[in-house]
Amino acid sequence: MGEIIAGKRIAMNLREEIKRFTENRKSKGLSVPCLATIIVGEDPGSLYYVNNQSKLCQELGIETKVIKLPQDISEKLLINQIEDLNENNDIHGIMIQLPLPKHLNEINITSRVNYKKDVDGLTDINNGKFYKGEKCFIPCTPNSVVHLIRNTGASIEGKNVVVLGRSNIVGKPAAQLLLNENATVTICHSKTQNLKSVCKNADILVVAIGKPKFVTKDYVKEGAIVIDVGTSSLDGKICGDVCFDEVIDVASHVTPVPGGVGAMTTTLLLKNVCEALVNNEY
Ligand code: NAP
Repeated sequence: MGEIIAGKRIAMNLREEIKRFTENRKSKGLSVPCLATIIVGEDPGSLYYVNNQSKLCQELGIETKVIKLPQDISEKLLINQIEDLNENNDIHGIMIQLPLPKHLNEINITSRVNYKKDVDGLTDINNGKFYKGEKCFIPCTPNSVVHLIRNTGASIEGKNVVVLGRSNIVGKPAAQLLLNENATVTICHSKTQNLKSVCKNADILVVAIGKPKFVTKDYVKEGAIVIDVGTSSLDGKICGDVCFDEVIDVASHVTPVPGGVGAMTTTLLLKNVCEALVNNEY
């Protein structure tokens, strides 16, 4: 029976660090970090996420500004909002809640955020810096994946890592970060042949496909570390891409959903907001 990687518990240390940072600034009469979140439309999953994020900000002493915009907003008006936030010196980090409605071009819109406030690491500038290995804001979800693997105490160097999924926000950057850790990385996607046997070769399996309970124990090598990024809704509950109940019997470590990758991701985002504040003071 494998161990559960408790993302929420692991994130606690970092949350304490953030709290100390904001309390220290307050006690010196300095400004505290402020995160602005833009949410377009009424998607219940997005509203739930933003709500939880705001609660956590409050707990940790980070100010928030949530801008709710109508589902049918034009690209031009949305970009105007982003530019206002870029100009506003009281805002240190900007997050655009994804996915956006279909008529809006996500790549174009996320790239309008000033890269110094791009705490989610999605702008072209931060992406370019990231793949060139320069200091920048790293996308929080893949960063969370690496944090959680490290926390198991296992070494990543030289390991066979399989990343299932190749999106720009999760799969590709997760693969790049693990490559930076000297893993031997294979990226799989919907056209990969013999998917089960490729996955079964992984010492570390990262799953980010958005297909609930897709990865069963047949995909997992005995003693592998399995990181489940998926968050789908199944029968009204949040559900991962991994069939947790059976995979835990084969793997050495598995992340639960919820309480795994997501918990760490939000915390890393808030850490980036603190960093953005400090960077902008110089
Ligand atoms: P995405 O953009 O839809 O990408 C899904 C990827 O999975 C694609 O590369 C796709 O392959 C691949 N794929 C789909 N079905 C497959 C199959 N049957 N076999 C092999 N590969 C398959 O999704 P995403 O934005 O990366 O998100 C993935 C999941 O992570 C979603 O559940 C999302 O909600 C979740 N997520 C969680 C967090 C968090 O913090 N916990 C953050 C972001 C996303 P092709 O490229 O060939 O189409």
